[in-house]
Amino acid sequence: MNNYIERVLENVKRRDKHEPEFLQTVEEVLKSLEVVVERHPEYEAAGLLERLVEPERVIEFRVPWMDDNGKIQVNRGFRVQFNSAIGPYKGGLRFASHVNLSVMKFLAFEQIFKNSLTTLPMGGGKGGSDFDPNGKSDMEIMRFCQSFMTELYRHIGPNVDVPAGDIGVGGREIGFLFGQYKRIRNGFENGVLTGKGMSYGGSVIRPEATGWGAVYYLQEVLHHQNDTLEGKTIAISGFGNVSWGVAMKASQLGAKVVTLAGPDGYIYDPDGVSTQEKWDYMLEMRSSGRNRVQDYADKFGVKFFAGQKPWGEKVDICMPCAYQNEIGMKEAEQILANGVKYYIEVANMPTTNEALYYLMDKGVLVAPSKAVNAGGVSVSGLEMSQNAEHLSWTKEEVDRWLHEIMKSIHTASVEAAEKCGLGYNLVAGANIAGFMKVADAMMAQGIV
Ligand code: GLU
Repeated sequence: MNNYIERVLENVKRRDKHEPEFLQTVEEVLKSLEVVVERHPEYEAAGLLERLVEPERVIEFRVPWMDDNGKIQVNRGFRVQFNSAIGPYKGGLRFASHVNLSVMKFLAFEQIFKNSLTTLPMGGGKGGSDFDPNGKSDMEIMRFCQSFMTELYRHIGPNVDVPAGDIGVGGREIGFLFGQYKRIRNGFENGVLTGKGMSYGGSVIRPEATGWGAVYYLQEVLHHQNDTLEGKTIAISGFGNVSWGVAMKASQLGAKVVTLAGPDGYIYDPDGVSTQEKWDYMLEMRSSGRNRVQDYADKFGVKFFAGQKPWGEKVDICMPCAYQNEIGMKEAEQILANGVKYYIEVANMPTTNEALYYLMDKGVLVAPSKAVNAGGVSVSGLEMSQNAEHLSWTKEEVDRWLHEIMKSIHTASVEAAEKCGLGYNLVAGANIAGFMKVADAMMAQGIV
């Protein structure tokens, strides 16, 4: 590996040794930047990579709230404002029990490159809490969101930092968060959050955008390989908002999602998750707060596999849509043994680095999450513009535009990798293309 990159990486390993997820993503991104760094010696002179891997600001705070039994609960809140070279910090809020500083920093770091790839002016940030909304009442969630925003409000703003949803944060949570922000600020600044409801400045297609965008990206990959979506079977994990969008768009375009997965196991639906009734039921399962995918099997009379992951199923395409690191070597070997041709990451960093390079080495076509799932934040960027300009675009306009953005992300990744002599390498291509714009901006803005 290039000397400069190696030194930066050693330093991160020493200083951030208690943050495994963050180390993992830094290692993956820097590994892709070798050629670029060799071509640009000025980056080393400007300490560019050292600055890139250090967040501009990390905020950690106490979130006290009262549960329905009158008991005081305390969670930990975070906002990582990682990089604002190309725009205000932008990125979701995740409410889940696995949230900690390492997870927040990895997500915020990924977000820098993802947001850059969208071509929109958005920096990288992420936040959240170790609060788990599953099984909580609406009133508990409201009290939690109000307490969370009572601290967060002083760090965000339409031109400063614009949070949105992620795992555990959907339309309901964004509503409560916005209500409290507006109350404290005494002003209707709806550009401060995206993923809002339609009645107060939300964008059409925002709920669908991540899943639909992922399928549009997949279409580009298939097109590049002279292949098509028609008749393909797809295994996915998760059963939330992103999986819902993937299942819907994949079937509209002639493919079939045959698995869904949750913490309790996975379901196999040979007919595909391909009807309006099934899509609607997915939303119902998610909002029930039960966090069980077995309910789908019971409702539609398909098989449920308790405690198992779906990656042993024979399919054409795998699209992990749940959590980080759900695919390690064991799952990668299963995927390879099943002859899967396309491995399309949708969740943020669903693959361990070892499994990722293994699949690539063995000739599976791998697409990285920071490109594939960028449709969500792209439509968030659009929502910000609509709020700033007091206008709203139609479903057709937003969908057409989302499709174009996903195509352009694929093209930019292909071109960046080719320019560096790396062939059709979407992983390196996304990192390089995302990095170049941020690097240019950081070089232009001096040592900050
Ligand atoms: N959490 C989503 C992501 O990872 C959406 C972020 C946003 O819309 O700001 O990109």
